[in-house]
Amino acid sequence: MKMRKMVSYVFLIVGISSLYGCSRNPVTGKRELILMSQEQELAAGKEAHPSIVASMGLYENQSLQAFINQKGKAMGAISHRPDLPYQFFIVDSPVVNAFAVPGGYVYFTRGIMAHFNNEAEFAGVLGHEIGHITARHSARQQTSQLLGQLGAIAGTIALPEMGEVIQAGVGSLMLSYSRAHETESDEIGVAYSSKIGYDAHQMADFFGTLKKLSEASGQIIPTFQSTHPDPGNRQKKVAKLATEYQQANPGKYEIDRNEYLKRIDGIIYGEDPKQGFVENDMFYHPVLKFQFPVPRGWQHQNAPTQFQMAPKGGKAVMIFTLAQGNSLEEAAQATLKGMGLEAKDSQKTTINGNPALVVVSRQAPPQQQQGQPQQQQTAQNTVQVATWFIQYGGNIYAIHGMSYVADFDKYASDFKQVAEGFRTLTDREKLNRQPDRIQIKSVQRDGTLRSALEAYQMPADKMKDLEVLNGMDLKDPVTRGMMIKTISR
Ligand SMILES: [Zn+2]
Repeated sequence: MKMRKMVSYVFLIVGISSLYGCSRNPVTGKRELILMSQEQELAAGKEAHPSIVASMGLYENQSLQAFINQKGKAMGAISHRPDLPYQFFIVDSPVVNAFAVPGGYVYFTRGIMAHFNNEAEFAGVLGHEIGHITARHSARQQTSQLLGQLGAIAGTIALPEMGEVIQAGVGSLMLSYSRAHETESDEIGVAYSSKIGYDAHQMADFFGTLKKLSEASGQIIPTFQSTHPDPGNRQKKVAKLATEYQQANPGKYEIDRNEYLKRIDGIIYGEDPKQGFVENDMFYHPVLKFQFPVPRGWQHQNAPTQFQMAPKGGKAVMIFTLAQGNSLEEAAQATLKGMGLEAKDSQKTTINGNPALVVVSRQAPPQQQQGQPQQQQTAQNTVQVATWFIQYGGNIYAIHGMSYVADFDKYASDFKQVAEGFRTLTDREKLNRQPDRIQIKSVQRDGTLRSALEAYQMPADKMKDLEVLNGMDLKDPVTRGMMIKTISR
């Protein structure tokens, strides 16, 4: 978490609008039912963008940003909708993903940027995402919901598996399209990336990287592919389309491998410790200088605005976040009001020397809807929350432990153990922890990818990652002077 002040968390639903219309599809030229007008698309993008930035953060890298702007604008100009105000962003997530929002917003994670091995691979995915926009594939559903507000939380607690919610959290914000739309976007990706001068066979090869990612266990979940058709099939199909395109339009198609690798030299790979990290059942935040325990066996997810924890089975959730207000009392009042909670009990205390306020509250009864029967509040459908407001380092933090009233006692000691374990982080090693970065090196002598990586002292446990990152097999031949990716701190 980077502790941004809270904005609206709950992602809007892009798509399914009540206003149906019929218009001509800019890509196919056919008249078809379109779920959104262009004005609605633009409005949806404008509304979604701040939430995306708040939930994932932007990755700051001026030259890489300039590169994606340049290629993105060039592609927008040759696309079927050259008049859209396209915008391109790199979001600060290690997950391998790219996505588009109606109205012209296109996002790449730093994770996917680290995994491309040349400009042509990037251009292919860029074309695929712009294709979703130009072909007006109205999103079926925006999957991700951030658990920032109790309304959302009460809804998600009801799900059978909290684990799924956590997995489907911030990192995997994805528009879900039909397979037909994915296939169409692949075709558009081939055409668009070829039109701006890149060899679309490389786009096909990137599906090989995605396939490897999905095969490697313990890898960051490759969501770009999980909601997409099988990457193996796509690889073949796209390669065939690329060949056909180049036969019909003979010319020079670029790959630009070394140019791309130089652009990503130094990019952060994997989690960035300065946003907080979990190690040995403890969450550490080196920038804000605190730590607290994570109950053993619980799943967790770190987002810019909050840190979530939940036991398997999904009967409880804990959320650590920043509270608003100048005093503990003010923060408590504002938070409870914002979450629709009614205080049952409140107590002043100190936690490891820091002033704190513990508030137990319950979900307020739902407003009676006209013509609908009043829903009875029971121990099974009413959420109870214990919140520790802690004043520390010029901020007020809130640690919420929540579950249904019926399950609350079972988790109360876990909640307490986490909150009362909040303390100043003093461990130098944790405070100075640096992220892993991709370092581009040139191969010293002919051999295999493995021997070249070993020559740069890459540890054995990083070999699998490096194989995927380089888009090669460890046994593949490399020659002296060739550029490869290594990982170092
Ligand atoms: Zn897609």
